[in-house]
Amino acid sequence: MDVRPPCRYRGRFAPSPTGPLHLGSLIAAVGSFADARHQNGVWLVRIEDTDQQRAVAGADSLILKTLEAFGLYWDEAISYQSQRSALYQAALERLYQDRRCYPCACTRREIASRGRPGPEGPIYPGSCRRGLPPGRQGRSTRLRVDCAELSVRDAIHGLYSQALAAEVGDFVLRRADGFYAYQLAVVVDDGEQGITHVVRGADLLASTPRQIYLQRCLGLPQPAYAHLPLVLDAHGRKLSKSLASAPVDPGDPLPRLVQVWSLLGQPLPEEPPANVSEFWQQAIASWSLTQAPRGPIPIASTGDFGTQPF
Ligand code: GLU
Repeated sequence: MDVRPPCRYRGRFAPSPTGPLHLGSLIAAVGSFADARHQNGVWLVRIEDTDQQRAVAGADSLILKTLEAFGLYWDEAISYQSQRSALYQAALERLYQDRRCYPCACTRREIASRGRPGPEGPIYPGSCRRGLPPGRQGRSTRLRVDCAELSVRDAIHGLYSQALAAEVGDFVLRRADGFYAYQLAVVVDDGEQGITHVVRGADLLASTPRQIYLQRCLGLPQPAYAHLPLVLDAHGRKLSKSLASAPVDPGDPLPRLVQVWSLLGQPLPEEPPANVSEFWQQAIASWSLTQAPRGPIPIASTGDFGTQPF
């Protein structure tokens, strides 16, 4: 794989086209854009549609239209993971050559019955690590995780450590249905696109040690990470499907933009902006990643979001 020479700042927003942009993804888009622009960086948009079963037709163009309505303009051609399989395959071949990964015959049911429970479901018990059992065929590909503890310094959360082998175990790079796993695709793309700063939702903080481990296996540079807060409902739960998936209205972006900005702990522009472009002209200079709240944002405390579709 060609790795681009490091540039001062290359950020990205990487939505999965499973539906229109919602509040949580708008927060990630605004935060990653503001951080890139504040540092005079480049900001890319990558459509993460490796999982064609989850991709919804037309969701990508809806997302892009909404980003434009919010003044979130990207710098280079949009990339689509569905068109980048050759890169993922090449990375997988390299990992096979280096004996970092192996074919796995186990079904979900087998893993559920033999694996210890872990934070993200049963931990793979290593059944195929030393070779496929006789008579069994490989279904998926797994990365061999030989790393007891991996730590990352997150710009918002500080030091985050994970006992990678014990808590996560050997994880999937290519799924039994043939799709490349998110962890592989995101690491290959961030490397190939020369991403230096990853600003995204806190639901992905627990994936970050896996991604760093994979970067090391592939000899890729490690970007800086910042994980923006998630939005919770009045009961402290991750937003209910209905509210979480309520589409952001691209028709009247300014009030929403102002609300998201204050949810991110940022001071509102002194002069009330007349439109989105005026908002950004004032807002970019004052952006501060370290002002973003660490904990989840309870939606009820923001009052005006209420329980109405955002
Ligand atoms: N595609 C992921 C999502 O929509 C984001 C991946 C990332 O930013 O690394 O949740």
